[in-house]
Amino acid sequence: MATNTPITVAHGDGIGPEIMDATLHILKEAGARIDIETIEIGEKVYLRGNPTGIEPSAWESLRRTKVFLKAPITTPQGGGYKSLNVTTRKTLGLYANVRPCVAYHPYVDTLHPNMDVVIVRENEEDLYAGIEHRQTDEVYQCLKLITRPGCERIVRYAFEYARAYNRKKVTCFTKDNIMKFTDGLFHKVFDEIAAEYPDIENEHWIVDIGAAKLADTPEAFDVVVMPNLYGDILSDVAAQIAGSVGLAGSANIGAGYAMFEAIHGSAPRRANQNLANPSGLLLGAVMMLVHINQPDIAERVHNAWLKTIEDGIHTYDIYAEGKSKQKVGTKEFAQAVVARLGQTPEKLKAVKYSSASRKDLTQFAKARTPDKKELVGVDVFIDWSKGTAAELGAILEPLSGDCLKLGMISNRGVEVWPEGFPDTLTCDHWRARFMARTEGTPVSHKAIVDLLGRISEAGLDFIKTENLCTFNGKPGFSDRTS
Ligand code: NAD
Repeated sequence: MATNTPITVAHGDGIGPEIMDATLHILKEAGARIDIETIEIGEKVYLRGNPTGIEPSAWESLRRTKVFLKAPITTPQGGGYKSLNVTTRKTLGLYANVRPCVAYHPYVDTLHPNMDVVIVRENEEDLYAGIEHRQTDEVYQCLKLITRPGCERIVRYAFEYARAYNRKKVTCFTKDNIMKFTDGLFHKVFDEIAAEYPDIENEHWIVDIGAAKLADTPEAFDVVVMPNLYGDILSDVAAQIAGSVGLAGSANIGAGYAMFEAIHGSAPRRANQNLANPSGLLLGAVMMLVHINQPDIAERVHNAWLKTIEDGIHTYDIYAEGKSKQKVGTKEFAQAVVARLGQTPEKLKAVKYSSASRKDLTQFAKARTPDKKELVGVDVFIDWSKGTAAELGAILEPLSGDCLKLGMISNRGVEVWPEGFPDTLTCDHWRARFMARTEGTPVSHKAIVDLLGRISEAGLDFIKTENLCTFNGKPGFSDRTS
């Protein structure tokens, strides 16, 4: 007799408790082998004065079970409250967000009857590192960080997912024609890892045209992997055009932990009326069942749910005269699914889950010899609003010193000195690039510190520096034209 798997469950706010009760009722009737630990998160915890919306005892449960089934929560209005989703994602290292977006034509309205796309979004890096600064009166910055281990993990996850779920193709979206270093790395790692999966087709699209194609012809895609920001936006677009925002579940997966939920929020206006559709959370729970290695139960629940949809038993949000047969409440919908346990859909495609072997993806990390790094110059960012580029150049050039030479000044990424157009819009944020005076001579940290000393003594306000390095002789920085 298999032992039960402990899971942590949070009933959340708004419609959360109703859809969680419905989901757990179905799981229990389907024979899910789970032991539930209940925790409280969300509005009540926030309003008790905990800005994270989750208490230490709840973390203890999560550390114990490592599996979290979470209903949506309400974040109270007003400042000071931290996003529970972001906190959970970061604390538990949930690096992959997986969102299947499926059309249920002709039972749920959609413009894309054959859509069946899984978005795999990198969940921790990119512009979401939360490193932002106001640098001058006019300029604000958000750092976009992309790491090689982060790319390797998410891209490998996408290919392993494709293999485990019998998917044929993995597509990568980036903007590496513009962000040659950050998105360029994501694309490069994608190509490297794709080569290890010859059984799965792979392709890359620039995200803008890729997004347009996804919105127009989603049938052209299968699994799509992308960095955090594009994934955040396009996973919502994909769910919406499938016609099923209320029906989509999502998984957040890490090396040691996983969290499963619906993609929608707590819909407070629909709460306590037995109206809400529990399908999104239920499909999140199906992903959880596969994750905890109960594919038999996952299949039973998912197929019974598909049969319920196919039989036209719909909650208000997807009910359509002519297509639907019966409008039901949350509880009645759950009862209808329970009544169909053991059945498979006739028109919609039945699902089949097999025992997904959960791999520790970190085991694939290849030992690399780090590239040889050499310091060859520095970009100094300066807050200055007293004149033109030519005037700033005239102040900075004599400060270069013996080792360094002022090569270029740019403003908003456009070169304004020594070449430049008088019409270029400039602001109070300048980048002065200093390179080794004799090309090929290494630059020392001391030379940079001395340069900053001279810049400061000249009364200029430097904001920050970025070291310019080569890696195995290749520049690790964008040039003046990028
Ligand atoms: P929402 O997703 O709660 O609701 C959007 C619309 O969809 C509403 O009209 C709602 O009635 C409907 N809807 C959503 N889920 C439904 C369901 N299961 N059945 C039937 N109808 C459903 O988004 P919102 O109104 O922008 O946000 C409400 C609250 O939810 C906010 O406090 C927000 O912060 C929170 N939220 C939480 C999560 C989460 O916990 N993961 C995600 C998004 C929003």
